[in-house]
Formats: sequence, structure tokens, C-alpha cells
Amino acid sequence: MPESEIIREIEVFDATPRVVSLERRANRLKQLLLHAKEHSPYLSKLYRDIDPENFTLNELPVQERAILEQNFEEWVTDPAIRKDDAKAFLSNPENMATPFMGKYSLVTTSGTSDAPLIVVRDKLHQEVHQAFRLKRLLGRIPPELFRPDCNRIAIILLKNAPSANYISYVKLKRLFPEKSENILGLSTIEPIPELVRKLNEFQPATLCGYSSLLGVLALEQIHGRLQIAPSLILSSAEQLTEATIAALRNAFENCTVLNDYCAAEGGEIAMTCPCGKLHVNEDWIILEPVDEEDRPVCPMEISDSVLVTDLSNFVQPIIRYRLDDRVQPMSKPCRCGSKRQLITVHGRESDVVIFENILLPSIVFTTLMNDMPGVLSYQFAQTQRNRLEFRAVYPDETDRTAFFNALNERVSHILRGNGCTHVQFVASDTLPKSSARGGKLKSVTSEIWQNFAEEEE
Ligand SMILES: [Zn+2]
Repeated sequence: MPESEIIREIEVFDATPRVVSLERRANRLKQLLLHAKEHSPYLSKLYRDIDPENFTLNELPVQERAILEQNFEEWVTDPAIRKDDAKAFLSNPENMATPFMGKYSLVTTSGTSDAPLIVVRDKLHQEVHQAFRLKRLLGRIPPELFRPDCNRIAIILLKNAPSANYISYVKLKRLFPEKSENILGLSTIEPIPELVRKLNEFQPATLCGYSSLLGVLALEQIHGRLQIAPSLILSSAEQLTEATIAALRNAFENCTVLNDYCAAEGGEIAMTCPCGKLHVNEDWIILEPVDEEDRPVCPMEISDSVLVTDLSNFVQPIIRYRLDDRVQPMSKPCRCGSKRQLITVHGRESDVVIFENILLPSIVFTTLMNDMPGVLSYQFAQTQRNRLEFRAVYPDETDRTAFFNALNERVSHILRGNGCTHVQFVASDTLPKSSARGGKLKSVTSEIWQNFAEEEE
């Protein structure tokens, strides 16, 4: 479909009564299900009892990432896609932002303790989600804020990982080779003082990054160490919490803060409207906030996880796929007038650790682990004010001592670089612990309040 046609469809969706638009969406779901049943060996088995002409969404089983990952080649609907080819393609940085097999885009998930999942996106997905960005997210933003020939743009990236931010960065560099000096790529694992120094020197008009790091930068600006005056801050990938939005608004005057709630698996799920609220792109996305038993939560109730369905990607169907985000469906309509589903995304508890009054976001540690294969699952746990524990499940072939020594060197470097000089980093015999609520494993967790409460009792 040409871009103009998709944009027109988006406009029509917004102008049509919601109930009519949702019928349209139900039809899209049916098309996707038919395609999945016919072309994905894995889903065909899973949906063998589902009648595509007569089914409801909640009859479809919930999809868990770890299981899908193991069945990757039977899950995709193009039998020519091999996991090894995709991995080899992704491992070559030259391929970043070039199509895989001449037509697909490849991204991987990041920032969690499981093995990264490769996500293949087809042309329709790329067109639809690009149209969402242009129309709903950036439609009201002066385009020159994304032009390095007019403005300076700083992007915080997961270096050497094919995340959406990194791909945008590479694409931008290729589009404006002669203005490369106006595009600054910063790594998520750089120590905060280093990020602050580079940003002060660069003075970006546009700053793109991850919510947890943007929150830290807001505090740096409030404390006067960071002194920049961006016109636009764009947060993507991680959820931007209300607290972070408030901190950013407080720290940066006359700056538009945009929130793009997206995931490698679902694409552009929801975006901020002119009121700064998040609306789901429900023409092509179905988002179900659910409780621990996978029942839909009531309005205003905070979900335990969300199930996402992306109606635009036929090559690797994402249908009722679980994302570990806590989402609150809002009950009142938004002042902007949009009828699309309104949500608030809540950060997961303790997704930061704080040592010596210095806040370190989880992404600092999860990025590091993406570069260090050798464990099956892991957890960084702050167990005391100045103690960080590493828990892991090691396969037999991993030399634990060598692995921990290499990790220790890198973690110590991060801690020292951020000014946390008295933190003890220790290898623990404890296995990674799942949270009491929902039983999910957090890659980075702080247990000091819990321990503190135990001490009090
Ligand atoms: Zn709104």
C-alpha cells in the first residue's frame, strides 16, 4: 500500500465512529489468523480448533516469548527464513538498516534476561508503523527537528544491537553523510557523568533515548550538572512513566516531550496525543491489559502484563503475545477528542537501583549482558545499600569464575564511572528470584526495602 493511502486510512479511522472502526479491525484480525493458520506450521497446530469465521480473541492462546523463540522457524510464515541466516545477518553491523532477504526488516528484543528474540517485519508492517510515526507521533512537530542539516540530534543507543533506535541512527547518518557531525550517538552503557559531559558539549535540539536514562538526565539537569535546552525529547522502547514525564517537564522548559510506547514485537503500540496522553494505535494494534490469570483488568486497574496483537505483520504473526509491561486502561475520555483506547504505562517496580544517591537504570546492566553470552538467565539484585549481587543460571560449558571475573571488570568500570566507589559486587549462589507478584523474573531488582522491612519486624 502506498504511504499516502495508509495515512489516509489512519485519518479515516480517526474520523469514523469507534464501533465501525473496531469492526474493521476485527476483519483485519480474521485475515491475519487465516494467514497464520495456512502458512505458519507452529500456529496452524496451535489454532487447529479455531474457526477463523467464528471465534473470539480470548479463545486464542496467550503466546510466551521463550516458547516462540524456540519455535522460530515454524512460527514465521515464509519457509525461506532460517534462524541462522537471520542471526548471521544481524551480526554484521554493515547490514544494520538494510533489508533482510531483500524485503524484511529485522530487529531484536533487548533489555531483558532472556535470549534476544529476532523479529522479522514485512513491508506492510514497516509502512503502517512508519505512517503511525509520521501522522500520530511527529505530525505536530516541526520536521526540521529531525533534520541534521538544520539541528543537532542526540540519540542514546544500545550500541551494536539492532534496536529501533540504533537503526534510526544509522539511517539518519546515511541520509545526511555530510552532516554527520550534527548527529551524536551515545551509548546506554556510558557512565552518566560522561553522557552529561558529551551532551553539554553537543547542545542537542532533539534528544532521543530510553525512559530510564532520560529520567536520570532530568535529575542531572535539575541539579545543574547537565545544562542543555532541547526543543524536543523523544522517548521510545522503554515505557515513559508519569513520574519521568513530570521530571522532564520540570527540568526542560519549552520542550516537547513525546512518548512512543513501542516494542520490537509489536512495533508502535501507543503514542502521545496533543494532551500528552497515550492512545493505542488500535487500527492495527490490539492491546489487552490483563491480570495474573490473563483476565482483562477493569478500567483504572493496573495490569500485570499486556497481550499485544499486531495486525500488520504477516511474516511473523504476533498474536496475543505477552509483554511484561504494567498498563492501566483509563476510564475517562481524553480532552484531545480521540476515541482510541487511552492508557497509562507504569514502570515495573524497582527498575532502577540507587547507590550512594546515584541512580542507575536497569538498561545499564541489561545492555552489558547483551554483549556477554554465557548465562541462561540472570539477575542483578541490590541486597543492601552498598551491595550488588549477581545471580545466574549457567550452562555446564560456562566457566563460572572466568565469566564472573570478566563481568566484574565491566560492572566495576560502570560503577566507578558513575561515582559509586563503595559498592561491593558479588557472585551469589542464589538463583535468580521471581517477584512475588506475578512470578516474573526481573533482570535488575532492588531488594533493600524488602530487607529493610524484614529487619524492622
Ligand atoms: Zn488524547
